[in-house]
Parts: sequence; C-alpha cells; structure tokens
Amino acid sequence: MDLTTGPELDAFREEVAAFLDTAPTDAIREAGRKLTSVFSPFDEVMEWHRILHRRGWAAPAWPVEHGGTGWSVEQRYVFAEEYARRNLPPLLPNGLKMIGPLLIDLGSEEQKQQHLPGILAGEDYWTQGYSEPGAGSDLASLSCAAVADGDDYILNGSKIWTTLAHRANRMFMLVRTDSSGRKQHGITFLLLDRLDLPGLQIRPIVGLDGLPEQCEVFFEDVRVPQSGRVGAENEGWAVAKHLLTHERGGSTSSPSLYRFVQTIREAAAVRTSPFGGRLVDDPVFQRDLGELEAEVASVEHVEKLAVSGHPISADLAFPSLNKTVSSELTQRLTTLMARVAGLQGLPQQLQALHVGSGAALLSDDFDLVALPYYLNSRAASIYAGTNEVQRDLIARTVAAR
Ligand SMILES: Cc1cc2nc3c(=O)[nH]c(=O)nc-3n(C[C@H](O)[C@H](O)[C@H](O)COP(=O)(O)OP(=O)(O)OC[C@H]3O[C@@H](n4cnc5c(N)ncnc54)[C@H](O)[C@@H]3O)c2cc1C
Repeated sequence: MDLTTGPELDAFREEVAAFLDTAPTDAIREAGRKLTSVFSPFDEVMEWHRILHRRGWAAPAWPVEHGGTGWSVEQRYVFAEEYARRNLPPLLPNGLKMIGPLLIDLGSEEQKQQHLPGILAGEDYWTQGYSEPGAGSDLASLSCAAVADGDDYILNGSKIWTTLAHRANRMFMLVRTDSSGRKQHGITFLLLDRLDLPGLQIRPIVGLDGLPEQCEVFFEDVRVPQSGRVGAENEGWAVAKHLLTHERGGSTSSPSLYRFVQTIREAAAVRTSPFGGRLVDDPVFQRDLGELEAEVASVEHVEKLAVSGHPISADLAFPSLNKTVSSELTQRLTTLMARVAGLQGLPQQLQALHVGSGAALLSDDFDLVALPYYLNSRAASIYAGTNEVQRDLIARTVAAR
C-alpha cells in the first residue's frame, strides 16, 4: 500500500518541498540538527512555528474552522515525510497536539476563542502540570489542592517534570478539589493563563543530558480564576484522560524514525569499521541497522493503515501500542547512534552535566549530538505514561473485548 504517491499528491509534495527548502532560516535548520530529544532549542523552534503559521501550516490536523489546513490524511503524511527528511525542528507538542485539540473537543466557546489563536500563532507556550512527586503512574493520587474562594481557586502544592515550564507563559493542570470519595473523583482540569503569579515558583531540573528541560513548580496560596476550569468541578479525570489520547496518539512517528536510520547510515559511511573498511559496509553494523529499519517499516505500515481509515485507528489500544513501539525504537536507534559516534562527545557531555548548561554546549555535529540524544531518549519510555503502564492498558483493553 502506498498512500503517498499519485499525480495530485506529487504536486502537493513539490509545493511542500519548495516551501520547506526555502522558508527556514539557517538558525532554524541548525536547531533541527541540534535536536537531542523531542525538543529543539526553544527560541528557534518558536520562530519556525510562527513562519509555518504565516503559511497556514502550523496545525495540519486541526479542523479548518480553527485554523487547520484542510489537508487529507495522505497530504498530512506527505508533509510529515518531507519535514522529517529535512531534519527540521519539530514544533512543540503541548499546544498544537495536546491542549489545542482538547479545547477543540471539550472547551467552552469562550475558552476556544481565548486560547486557540495564541496556540496556533505560536505566541503562547503551554506546559503540562499533571505529575507530582507522589503521583506519576498513579496520577489519580494527585494532591495539589484548589480551594474555591469567590470566583477564584486558591492553589497549594507542587508539580514535577513540567516540561519547559521555565519557558512557558501558560499551564494546563490537574488539581484536587475534593478528597472525600474515590481518588479519580475530585480532580479538576484547570487552565492558567499566566504563570507570573504571586506565590508561583518555577525551578528547572537539569537532566542527564545536561539540559534544563523539565521543572518543579510550587504553588503557595496562588489565586487563579475558576473560569479556567475545563468541564465540571471534580470531573476532570475524564478530561485528563481525553488529553492523554491526543498526547500518546495523533502523530506519525515513522518519518522521523526513518530520519534516524538515514542519519546513522550517513555517519557510518564516513567511519572506519574496527575490522577495516567503512563501517557502513560492516556486516554486523548492516544487520543491526537493517533490523531496525525493518521495524521502522512495520511502524510505517501500521501508521499508514491508521491514516487510511482502517479500524485500527479507532482501536482504544492503538495510541498506547504506537507510543510503546515508537519510543522503544527511538531508544534502540539512539543506542546505535551512540555506538557509531563512540565516546567522542564524552568530554562535552561531562562538562554539560557539570555546569548544568547543556544548551550552551549543544552542537549540530553528529559525534556530539549522539550521546545527549542517547541519554535523553531513555526518558521516551517514561514520559506520556511509562511503557509498563501502556502495556497494562493494552492488556486490559484487549482483555475487555
Ligand atoms: C522527560 C520527561 C518529561 C516529562 N514531562 C512531563 C510534563 O510535561 N508534565 C507532566 O505532568 N509530567 C511529565 N513527566 C512525568 C511522567 O509522566 C512521569 O514520570 C511518568 O508518568 C511516571 O511517573 P513517575 O516518574 O512518578 O514514576 P512511577 O509512577 O513511580 O513509576 C516507577 C516505575 O514503576 C513502574 N510502575 C508504576 N506503576 C506500575 C504499574 N501499575 N504496573 C507496572 N509498572 C508500574 C513504572 O513503569 C516505572 O518503571 C515527564 C517525565 C519525563 C521523564
């Protein structure tokens, strides 16, 4: 099955390619090559977001009435392929793939009008305040409290692993508004339309790769309007789960997985095998890369099935399955990347960890990117719900049939 050729799609591909070849600045292209996680350098990626928005292409999957492109699923797949082929920095997912689609599905008209334009235009960056020190996999145990006071809530507690909170100006979060019943009851989904609030403190955490990507956020008597609530008070668990289906699904990973394969192959073409000759011709290397490439091809096949309307796309287990397989493949590909690069990047890596300023040391050189990419991608099987928890969800979904 080939969903991505045919005269009309070929013309569309040319239009996309022409734009992607010319629109990004040199700094944006460099930011794409500096990718060591799902996040490229923040300023460049937001600039790229705004350029894509001006072309009308920031949110291909959104409905047209909210600023989407109106492209067919095949066109969206072609766009993702051409995008990944050029190694351009991925747009940040929290607005475009998480809170935006959630508000389109479940937000009030007022919330849509207030928040969707800023998300689409790349003016606002939203951070996700779900996890707490005592509530990760067991998210429903969260305890960050919101107590009603007039038209406001007063927040007390903390969040952790809030990605890029130190660069965000908005947050969507889960708070506890009632502790009396079962733990899934009494959770409320809340939008914070600013983070420079009295009593709110954000502390970045330096990760294994030396980058301050995640944060802790502390709330001490922080006053926020109740109008930021999505859905009913105490009924936020269903809203939170709805958002997770957008977080775990809704995007195609095979084009960027292929990009890994290509990058590794190119790097191996200019390296020597320990047994002599080029590494790319080494049979052991070829076997290892070939095996991974075959698995990427199977992800591509399933993703194409899903975009072509196959029943798998509506299967409740599909987002968890796709997240698990793609994240584990990413980890194995970045492991091979690190093997090809060897320890050339180790001095920079140790320095980044030591000074906690990996961003300043980020490079677009394969040898230097490989190690932080390897380290950062260990987290891929943890964020968006750990893979153990995803396997549990898959098993329960299948068992319930
Ligand atoms: C890089 C990164 C970015 C993140 N970004 C965000 C963010 O922006 N916003 C946010 O809110 N959160 C974020 N998170 C938090 C993430 O969602 C949690 O780390 C994750 O849900 C796991 O929770 P935990 O860390 O508390 O681990 P725990 O839940 O304590 O799990 C520890 C171990 O026990 C296993 N385990 C737990 N329960 C079960 C079970 N029932 N069955 C089998 N095994 C189980 C887990 O799989 C894991 O291996 C991020 C995490 C990382 C690493």
